[in-house]
Amino acid sequence: MANFAIDSKDNRTYDAIVIGSGISGGWAAKELCEKGLKTLVLERGRNVEHIKDYPTTNMMPWEFEHRGQIPEEIQQANPVISRCYAYHEDTQHFFVKDTEHPYVQDKPFDWIRGYQVGGKSLLWARQVQRWSDYDFEGPARDGFAVDWPIRYADLAPWYSYVEKFAGISGNKDGLDNLPDGEFLPPMDLNCVEKYFKEKLETQYSGRNLIVARCAHLSEPQAIHLEQGRGQCMNRNLCQRGCPFGGYFSSNSSTLPWAMKTGNMTLRPNAVVQSIIYDEGKEKATGVQVIDAETKESIEFYAPLIFVNASALHTNTLLLNSKSNRFPEGLGNDNGLLGKYVAFHIYRGKISAAYDGELDNTTVGRRPTSGYIPRFRNVYKQETDFLRGYASGFGARRHIERDYDGIGQSLKDNLLNPKWGNWRVNSHMMGETIPKETNTVSLDPSQTDEWGMPLLKINIDYDDNDEKMIQDFFEQFTEMYERAGFTDIKTRDTGQAPGLDIHEMGGVRMGKDPKTSLLNKWNQLHACPNVFVTDGSSMTSTSTQNPSLTYMAFAARAVDYAVQEKNKLNL
Ligand SMILES: Cc1cc2nc3c(=O)[nH]c(=O)nc-3n(C[C@H](O)[C@H](O)[C@H](O)COP(=O)(O)OP(=O)(O)OC[C@H]3O[C@@H](n4cnc5c(N)ncnc54)[C@H](O)[C@@H]3O)c2cc1C
Ligand code: SF4
Repeated sequence: MANFAIDSKDNRTYDAIVIGSGISGGWAAKELCEKGLKTLVLERGRNVEHIKDYPTTNMMPWEFEHRGQIPEEIQQANPVISRCYAYHEDTQHFFVKDTEHPYVQDKPFDWIRGYQVGGKSLLWARQVQRWSDYDFEGPARDGFAVDWPIRYADLAPWYSYVEKFAGISGNKDGLDNLPDGEFLPPMDLNCVEKYFKEKLETQYSGRNLIVARCAHLSEPQAIHLEQGRGQCMNRNLCQRGCPFGGYFSSNSSTLPWAMKTGNMTLRPNAVVQSIIYDEGKEKATGVQVIDAETKESIEFYAPLIFVNASALHTNTLLLNSKSNRFPEGLGNDNGLLGKYVAFHIYRGKISAAYDGELDNTTVGRRPTSGYIPRFRNVYKQETDFLRGYASGFGARRHIERDYDGIGQSLKDNLLNPKWGNWRVNSHMMGETIPKETNTVSLDPSQTDEWGMPLLKINIDYDDNDEKMIQDFFEQFTEMYERAGFTDIKTRDTGQAPGLDIHEMGGVRMGKDPKTSLLNKWNQLHACPNVFVTDGSSMTSTSTQNPSLTYMAFAARAVDYAVQEKNKLNL
């Protein structure tokens, strides 16, 4: 029988539509619903309800058939996601399988995706460092990419706004290249990390080691308890889904908050194919969707559309939104849609041994690490490459197991492991330069199961990246030597772009419609009732983890959009 409720156009019309329910879409939904707009949230993946749909969250290691490992044949069938450090037997249900969702790698690109309500907010490592003016001013200062249309001051109140709601643990470090935020009590550095901090900060000016800021409730406030979230227990099983809501995810925080307003309709299994543009009205009027399960085609309508499908999906969706007015994709008058995509370089790693602090070790877990903010080319250009890198830093004391012996002596050896030296580890998080040649586009002939053209990804490292990686090795070797670390080992993982999971750009912001797609409010220059507030809107990438910035942009853009709507400007 026909479903008249679905068939009625009125029943498919809302005040706003949000495409994607991950980190940025969750924020757009919360803000729109709180401001009283009846909002439809469309999510291509299945529903995931907080706590109820975390099947592995309380499982013991021995309860997993493969003791947490992914069997060889599954790894071979899924080579891309198998390279992600977080893909294990306990988390695999939150990752997109390579074979089910193909894409075209013109050059190798490891595209890590999570299709479900909550998106990658169920998988992320929750590192949340603000960007500074040195990041927003970067392109204008050294001439790469295009100037950002905003500065740190435009975003600072919105960082504060989202930080208070999400709950961020951190220390006020007073660094101008990594602005402080609204922090809950910080996690602590361990004794070797504190030792390196002291060495670093006394021997170098402008090089600091801090405890990385993370989206964990180290001391929940009233606003977090109101969300139904509780204290982080430091058990470090976050990627299984946290039953306490101890860290921020869309599922535990923004989406239930939006739902509580009575204004949100959440529709999982809804693959948005394109945004509908009405030439008469000169605006977008809705979206065309394929039901993921039935393959039925449905249209939904709203005068305001937020695109939050994650960076490369948003590019796909806009490129696929073709009309007479926009034959090359929605808003793409200048042909720049899908270009200037950038990412973070995570290839460089360095480790070393430390023979001090042998009376100490660490107990318990800690869902963050040390963090060394960018120190290269911050105040002036000082190297032969542009921009720089931040770095994670952690120290751990290793257990040395003796596998010698047989029978009782082997048992005794295994049951009495000995502490080895401390080892320290750093990994780089470098800023790639957005280039016109780093592009994504639609494959002209191949489509997926839902009729959507496959995305073709053509992204690579360049000389700037290679020089930056070498500089990371040189600088960290020197810093480690000065700290008295020994047995220094550097490693270039050689990994393809993408595994950093910080893909950005393609729908960049800017001042000029000739050189950018979005204005300073994340609004398409050429179609102002469509806002894009995920990573695709980034003009450059900075060295900090990006998701906090997407949240701040989403909240800020909704505030502006609703004001404009109320003034009848949209
Ligand atoms: C293991 C891991 C560790 C990470 N660690 C960090 C970290 O420490 N700090 C940090 O800042 N970032 C981190 N990230 C990255 C972070 O998860 C992303 O930056 C963030 O989730 C992006 O938010 P988003 O809203 O753009 O996309 P997502 O959170 O991916 O959400 C997008 C949603 O849109 C849906 N969607 C896509 N296409 C369509 C369509 N056509 N129709 C309908 N729905 C669609 C998807 O299914 C998805 O649910 C990490 C990611 C992973 C996987
Ligand atoms: S470390 Fe905190 S956030 Fe992670 S699973 Fe444990 S309680 Fe939840």
